[in-house]
Amino acid sequence: VEPIQVEPVQVEPIGIVQSPFKQKFGIPRQPGLAKHASACIEIAPKYARPEAFEGIEQYSHLWIEFYFHQTASDDWKPSVRPPRLGGNQKLGCFATRTNFRPNNLGLSVVRFDKLEVHQNGIRLHISGHDLLDQTPIIDIKPYIPYSDSVITATAGDFEQAPATSLHVCFTGTSEAQLKTLAASHPDLKTLIEEIISQDPRPAYMKVKANRDEFTVRLYDFDIKWQVSGQTANILAIQPLNS
Ligand code: SAM
Repeated sequence: VEPIQVEPVQVEPIGIVQSPFKQKFGIPRQPGLAKHASACIEIAPKYARPEAFEGIEQYSHLWIEFYFHQTASDDWKPSVRPPRLGGNQKLGCFATRTNFRPNNLGLSVVRFDKLEVHQNGIRLHISGHDLLDQTPIIDIKPYIPYSDSVITATAGDFEQAPATSLHVCFTGTSEAQLKTLAASHPDLKTLIEEIISQDPRPAYMKVKANRDEFTVRLYDFDIKWQVSGQTANILAIQPLNS
């Protein structure tokens, strides 16, 4: 068989994500795991034409194709060690959802909350996503239940929805800080619970008692937490500019 020839193709982002996830640590590994993770897709001026979005409001969910911009300069490798397997087992990159892949393209199904046509353009409000802030968006398509949801589909045993593994407890300080933020960030407490209950610590840190302090950055806050047994204690919610 003759080796095939492929020509390079070029794509241009149609928009950018404004997300509460400011760093990779803590971002759910797939969409749908943190339902209160909301974000906006701000459409680039060239594509911000209302007629290009006509009809989209009929859909509850969208497919988002995006560019893993933060890891794009890292080389792809044919084999990866998925963190959910504790880094011990190798799988082919095309057999995983790793962000280290040839064209750095990601694919997520998200809840579509609202289309906003504003003075300077178009914004799509989404939730339940797994996208880093400033992620370039390559394309948007409606999720079509009859063909996109395959109820007979199977996956590897390890590829099951992660169980929540930590009980999240707010200390007096963090509880008080959340109260002062209730008006500006009404979902912050639930989002913290959704993220930290899934225990985003790397697998090797979960095996032994580990009292290190961890930080997850959400919106403009550093969320400080520590694990004791099966409980994550939220120690403080520090504004970045403090
Ligand atoms: N659902 C997508 C998919 O299957 O293609 C992404 C799955 S990937 C395992 C999800 C992880 O990608 C997140 O937990 C986060 O660490 C990382 N991530 C999200 N946005 C990114 C970006 N713009 N650049 C690099 N990594 C990103």
